[in-house]
Amino acid sequence: MIMGQADMVSEMKYECIRAKSMMSKQKGVDNWFNSLHSMNPYRGCEFGCVYCDGMSESYHVDNFLTHIRIKENAPEIVRKELESFGFSSQSKMETESLLPFLESEDAKRLRETGPPKFIIGVSGGVSDAYQHVEREHKITRKILEVMLDFEMPIFLLTKSDLVLRDLDLLKEIHDRALVNIGFTVTIMDEETKNVFEPKSATVYERLEALKEIRDAGLHGGIAAMPLIPGISDTEENMRRLTEEATRAKSEYILWGGLTLKPGRQKDYFMSVLRKRFPDNRPLIERVYQNEDPYGAPAYKLLPVNVIKEGYRLCREYNTDYRIPLWPIEGVPRINQVIIEILLRISFHIKYIQEQPWHRARPFDAAIRSLENNIEGEITLNNLIAIAERLQLNQRAVSVIMEILEHGESSLLHSFELE
Ligand code: SF4
Repeated sequence: MIMGQADMVSEMKYECIRAKSMMSKQKGVDNWFNSLHSMNPYRGCEFGCVYCDGMSESYHVDNFLTHIRIKENAPEIVRKELESFGFSSQSKMETESLLPFLESEDAKRLRETGPPKFIIGVSGGVSDAYQHVEREHKITRKILEVMLDFEMPIFLLTKSDLVLRDLDLLKEIHDRALVNIGFTVTIMDEETKNVFEPKSATVYERLEALKEIRDAGLHGGIAAMPLIPGISDTEENMRRLTEEATRAKSEYILWGGLTLKPGRQKDYFMSVLRKRFPDNRPLIERVYQNEDPYGAPAYKLLPVNVIKEGYRLCREYNTDYRIPLWPIEGVPRINQVIIEILLRISFHIKYIQEQPWHRARPFDAAIRSLENNIEGEITLNNLIAIAERLQLNQRAVSVIMEILEHGESSLLHSFELE
């Protein structure tokens, strides 16, 4: 039996649990959000989005929208995990090392010892770190305090303006490392939003929060995903979203469509659709009748390619279609520039030109190899040795060589001019 929204509200259950681990490492740096590790301060999410992927059996969380597990020991686990990666707590260094007695240059050098930093996704994996329960339990805030102590760059994705409560901390982290806050906004019409995202902040509140974040000097933008076929992938909704995001000083908009995994996620979504948007049901049934285990639609049946259309709008409104790779301590800047350009080339081949994905493989393979195997700076002198050792494809090597010589790629330019 499918549970309705009213039932869900009355049956909310909260439980404190002890987590064994917090950070999960992805196979490589996330192609959308640029994070290498991500975590969820809570299990389950009370925002109750009808399309939520977290409901799916693949995550093994029963009653995802109604039973919220609070990981009360999360901050101490995160601290231990960061130490195990070789990072140093600044407060510990102040009290347990010679740091307070060193000249400023030596102190700076000591502070910067340790492995290269990477971006940690503090929220937005499979739950929202700023759901209502955070007001009282402050697990996310305590994790941010740890991030500040270790001066780690972070990415945060939320549907809540509660994030503004922690602006003081976020500014401090940004001063020492990097903070990028993404707000998910998919539906501009508040009434429709209340059907599909019933308990999260209003669209207006999220956009206002983004503006405040940007005015405070932090990085931030919009994740416009998932867009629902026939409902939120319309020209009107996507254009309004882009206009309002630009007004809120969004630095980027990431676009993505809906996945509906067979089982709990799809069943619940279809039951709400049947009641609230019966006219849209036939289209969505057709598009997702393939029962793809990952929930992918039959792309040819989609009314709009939202990534391509979103890219066009981003160009029109002069906002980025990807999150830029902003500088991170300990990572050579040129390595980031190379990876960023390769990522953009791959994006164009797959999503804008809609070529078969294997055409992007040489670039994707080079991105993974460079991310996982290179810590020192890539130069014209060591490129050939690196290419041989990592067996990089010649097409990728030519692009890298051009970036090293001229700081840019003519291939990417030609794609972006199309
Ligand atoms: S905010 Fe995210 S995690 Fe929470 S219910 Fe909505 S889609 Fe799921």
